[in-house]
Amino acid sequence: MSDKNVLLINPWIYDFAAYDMWSKPIGLLYIGGLLRANGYKISLINCLDRYNPELLIYQNLISPKSTEYDCGKFHKEIIEKPQILKDVQRKYGRYGLPIHIFRNELKKVSKPDIILVTSGMTYWYPGVFDAVKEAKNYFRDVPVILGGAYATLCYDHAIEHSNADYVICGEGEVKALKLVQELIGGNISFIPQNLDDYPYPAYDLLTSKNSLAILTSRGCPMGCTYCASSIVAGKFRQRDPIKVVDEIEFYYKTFGTKNFAFYDDALLLKPDEHIAVMLKEIIDRKINCNFHTPNAMHASQINESLAKLMFNAGFKTIRISLETSNITRQKAIGNKITPEILKEAIINLKKAGYKGRDIGVYVLICLPGQPLEEMIESVRYVHECGALTKLAVYSPIPQTKEWDKAVKYSGFDLNADPLLHNDSIYPLRLNDITIDDIQKVKALALELNKEI
Ligand code: SF4
Repeated sequence: MSDKNVLLINPWIYDFAAYDMWSKPIGLLYIGGLLRANGYKISLINCLDRYNPELLIYQNLISPKSTEYDCGKFHKEIIEKPQILKDVQRKYGRYGLPIHIFRNELKKVSKPDIILVTSGMTYWYPGVFDAVKEAKNYFRDVPVILGGAYATLCYDHAIEHSNADYVICGEGEVKALKLVQELIGGNISFIPQNLDDYPYPAYDLLTSKNSLAILTSRGCPMGCTYCASSIVAGKFRQRDPIKVVDEIEFYYKTFGTKNFAFYDDALLLKPDEHIAVMLKEIIDRKINCNFHTPNAMHASQINESLAKLMFNAGFKTIRISLETSNITRQKAIGNKITPEILKEAIINLKKAGYKGRDIGVYVLICLPGQPLEEMIESVRYVHECGALTKLAVYSPIPQTKEWDKAVKYSGFDLNADPLLHNDSIYPLRLNDITIDDIQKVKALALELNKEI
């Protein structure tokens, strides 16, 4: 064991809205697991911890208000809106620990030799910067490494503005390990060769393990034009499904975890050698848990037998992507589904035992050049299929194929500031779509969902 301390920080979300749907800093904790396997001592400050004991006292709660599957609202404090977001008529907030509790957390950890900070959506960077600033104020001479999605997608911005000493892109485990060793010493005794080699994420550091995230694969081969999966997660690879079940069973037995959210971008691909094997194993081992798929699954793989396995294994939150019912656009943005395929998948899920309200279908609105009629048709189509519409407003992501189009269709200079990628602001100045139009689509989805 090395005497070197590494502090991991999962920063705040700064946004107009945020909700905890099994949000876990899995990438950061995978890095933590690998660092620990190489002898480093690790600690965590998780700004998004709804179970933080000091936060609960501050909120006058014994435990956080959560749904039956352990989702819930983050603590929010209203903060000043960045000037560039002033047109948004909503309150901007810091989601997560109040700043004084974060500072107390800094006081509690052993002095680190190095600090690793992760990042999420590109437009959440102010929360990342504040975490870096606070950490550097308290531990003045300690270097900070920044990684995660924002750091990968907006590398130059992060280098220039984040105040981190080092910025790493893409899959972070091995890069972080090598950089940590280079900067503070220690011995690298173990480098994973494939996904099955990775030590489990350091979930023991989380206050609550009522729900955890699982990654059975990384990346996605579909290459949709608006998606950053391959940029952030690299090429598509799947783990050994039996080893995934070993991991789930370990948490179930060790921590009593009852809810697992699959973070995969392509959970159902090659189903016969992956998900079907996993589900049969979960059933055989009598792992009595709830499983959730917040990242959406590929409808094309949901045949009758897979739907039945999902139901019997305990899949509760079912999310599928349609994006749009317009076939021409579907082909143009990814060609991963057709309206018919969605209909078939929903029929299969219902035959397996799911109700319409169990099935949420993502419809993506405000894609560059997408007319209002298409958004409305898509919402109506999901309703006709007998499932809930889950609207997602398009958020432009740098380096994706859709980016140039988004820049062209937006009335904002998207290159000027990642804050403009926010799905609350991007639609404000679209060429053809007004905010009233978007409200109409949202109201329609709400209305139709009530009938499901
Ligand atoms: S299928 Fe999903 S994860 Fe894969 S590229 Fe398309 S949007 Fe991204």
